[in-house]
Amino acid sequence: MHAALTHDHITVTGARENNLKEVSLRIPKGRLTVFTGVSGSGKSSVVFDTIAVESQRQLNETFTWFVRNRLPKYERPHADAIEDLAPAIVVDQKPIGGHSRSTVGTMTDIYAVIRVLFSRHGTPSAGPATAYSFNDPSGMCPECDGLGRTVRPDYDRILDPARSLADGAILFPPFAAGTWHGQTYTNSADLDPHKPVGDFTAEERRYLLRGRPGGKVTVDNTGGARDIDFEGLADRFERLYLNRDLSALSQKTRDLVEAFLTEARCPACDGARLNPAALATRINGLSIADCARMEVTDLIAELGRVDDPVAGPVAAAAVAALERVEAIGLGYLSLDRETSTLSGGEGQRLKMVRHLGSSLTGMTYIFDEPSVGLHPRDVGRLNDLLLRLRDKGNTVLVVEHDPDVIAVADHVVDMGPAAGTHGGHVVFEGTPAELRAADTLTGRALRRATGVKEHPREPSGELWIKDAGLHNLKDVTVRLPAGVLTVVTGVAGSGKSTLVSEVFTAQHPDAVVVDQSSIGISGRSTPATYLGIMDRVRALFARHTGAEAGLFSFNSSGACEGCRGRGVIHSDLAFMDPVTTTCERCAGRRFKEEVLRLTVGGRSVVDVLDMTAEDALAFLEDFPDAAVRRRLGALRDVGLTYLTLGQPLSTLSGGERQRIKLATQLHRTGTTYVLDEPTTGLHMADVAGLLALLDRIVDAGNTVLVVEHNLDVVKHADWVVDLGPDGGKHGGRIVFEGTPRELLAARDSFTAEHLRRAVA
Ligand code: ADP
Ligand code: ADP
Ligand code: ZN
Ligand code: ZN
Repeated sequence: MHAALTHDHITVTGARENNLKEVSLRIPKGRLTVFTGVSGSGKSSVVFDTIAVESQRQLNETFTWFVRNRLPKYERPHADAIEDLAPAIVVDQKPIGGHSRSTVGTMTDIYAVIRVLFSRHGTPSAGPATAYSFNDPSGMCPECDGLGRTVRPDYDRILDPARSLADGAILFPPFAAGTWHGQTYTNSADLDPHKPVGDFTAEERRYLLRGRPGGKVTVDNTGGARDIDFEGLADRFERLYLNRDLSALSQKTRDLVEAFLTEARCPACDGARLNPAALATRINGLSIADCARMEVTDLIAELGRVDDPVAGPVAAAAVAALERVEAIGLGYLSLDRETSTLSGGEGQRLKMVRHLGSSLTGMTYIFDEPSVGLHPRDVGRLNDLLLRLRDKGNTVLVVEHDPDVIAVADHVVDMGPAAGTHGGHVVFEGTPAELRAADTLTGRALRRATGVKEHPREPSGELWIKDAGLHNLKDVTVRLPAGVLTVVTGVAGSGKSTLVSEVFTAQHPDAVVVDQSSIGISGRSTPATYLGIMDRVRALFARHTGAEAGLFSFNSSGACEGCRGRGVIHSDLAFMDPVTTTCERCAGRRFKEEVLRLTVGGRSVVDVLDMTAEDALAFLEDFPDAAVRRRLGALRDVGLTYLTLGQPLSTLSGGERQRIKLATQLHRTGTTYVLDEPTTGLHMADVAGLLALLDRIVDAGNTVLVVEHNLDVVKHADWVVDLGPDGGKHGGRIVFEGTPRELLAARDSFTAEHLRRAVA
């Protein structure tokens, strides 16, 4: 083969991770390749578990033993060969999280550029660039240590205004009437112990909290009565519980104290995190805190006005970086926004900004559904960025379902034909145009065009959101119909999550939120345990084999003694990361040999756990158990038949987690459900299944409220609420409410504009 030909593709031969069936692929380098296919077909198994893992593993091998032992361990993926890889950078949806010192400005490094600008060109200058860093002692506000917030005692909670000191006005137990500390206040000659604290004059209250020099009080202790200095309640609380190392207090005391604390904007810096010298510096009348508080779009305009010939180039560098943030549809964020409050999609796009600014070429960038959280209006900008990364000489691999992203790919790999054991094959490779003609689920879905719902359901009542003003919401009051499917749309940052996930759920606390967050139960949880199928399977095995049911549980006497039912052994080695190996005694099967010999219909309990929900349904045909069949049926109804009963829940994607949670809810009625972007991770063909599921839930007498951008979901709604008109402070209003048919005619709505295109 010609040398040039051999190295301009990444080649994968005989890949077998998870459900992959000896997959072989040639992926063109320097191109944008989209991997698509129904969920569970094997996209992630190819891209993340095979290509990304191998790339990372090969890279690690180039380091010395010393460094290698400090890096995470990667096992060689199951494949015959993976060749001509480039170093891979995975840009995923994992929440950035981070502590409160991590902001949009710090994580993108844009704040560092602005610090340089202020230190060199602001007046008066506070010094070098660290003087503007809230993470550096020379710049941070001394009151809050650069956090922008301070924790202070909440005296409204500590004191009950209706009661007198003698009658228990002090609610903080260590200072309560009758305690040693409490005597200071009930015995004080300067305070009337029988007057309700709420009736104290300002002066009396100040004395109670802060005392005054020379103030005395007589207290009794074991040595008899004696005079001591009066210490104000606030002074004492702060001395004993705040101005000291809290870790020295017992957990019980800390919990007690915390109940009487409140977090508030720091009064010294007003939340700006910086000390007065840093805040005094101005450029064009703005302080660095003003810049950090501004929406990125506005900051670009402000910095664009810096025309000083010396400062200009630094400002221009900041503007170039800010424009990348705007280009990715995040112009509504401010640099001071804490990264822990960003959504997964926002986080992924911000990480992307960092890579766009880098000058690396010849890399492989891997994205996991970057369109998540993006309105169709913003997908165009995302595409531009993916193409720019490619044009810098990189290979870009994207797992994606959005037809608008698929359309700009150079190459598409379609996995299928279905999910789980019925997937794991490459069913199509070629250009997007060829895919549209292909006889695969994706090809067919791309050709199918649906119109808007013509006969929306009649509401059975109404629900209100009143006076919502959180974040960017502009005092929104909106009526939502009950007993129907309502979809809330709007461009990114318009306020959908704020309105639905925060305000609506606060005003309607009985609503059930079915989100994508992890299922907070033990690492051993599986679909079988989560849905309560495992107990029934154990009972079935006990009934048929005569053994006791407990034997069939991995935390019982039936568990393998080598690994105590975990299937794996974690060894902690000094100086090295813990190593996880498969248990040799049970070969990862978790049970004792004798338990594995006990079978029902020729299958052991491990065989049953290895079955997909679909296979288990077929197997259990012969062993009627209505409860199990109903629960397995629910898994089928939420489109998760391809999961095995024993697959750890920790391996599920966010979308799969959301759907398994839905599976436990299918029997309810009269409930209001809230779902945030349930199409995440869903192929176009799966969306139809999700809609059928939502219809069933509504038809059973429930209300469903969904935040979505997916136009197939919008078309299928009974009622649509569109927020906008744009993101951030330019959003936060209701721009449309009505049926999908009415939305088609709406003006000044980005959603309407894209919906018209999607039905054309
Ligand atoms: P996709 O990315 O197309 O949704 P995946 O590659 O995540 O599909 O999954 C393919 C199949 O492999 C599915 O049946 C999935 O349940 C299974 N699978 C994925 N990860 C694991 C894992 N860690 N352990 C066992 N099975 C897994
Ligand atoms: P959407 O869901 O439509 O993308 P959001 O409700 O997430 O929009 O955001 C609406 C506005 O509120 C945006 O300007 C966003 O930056 C802001 N916002 C959202 N969450 C927070 C938060 N935790 N702290 C501060 N601002 C926030
Ligand atoms: Zn402060
Ligand atoms: Zn074992």
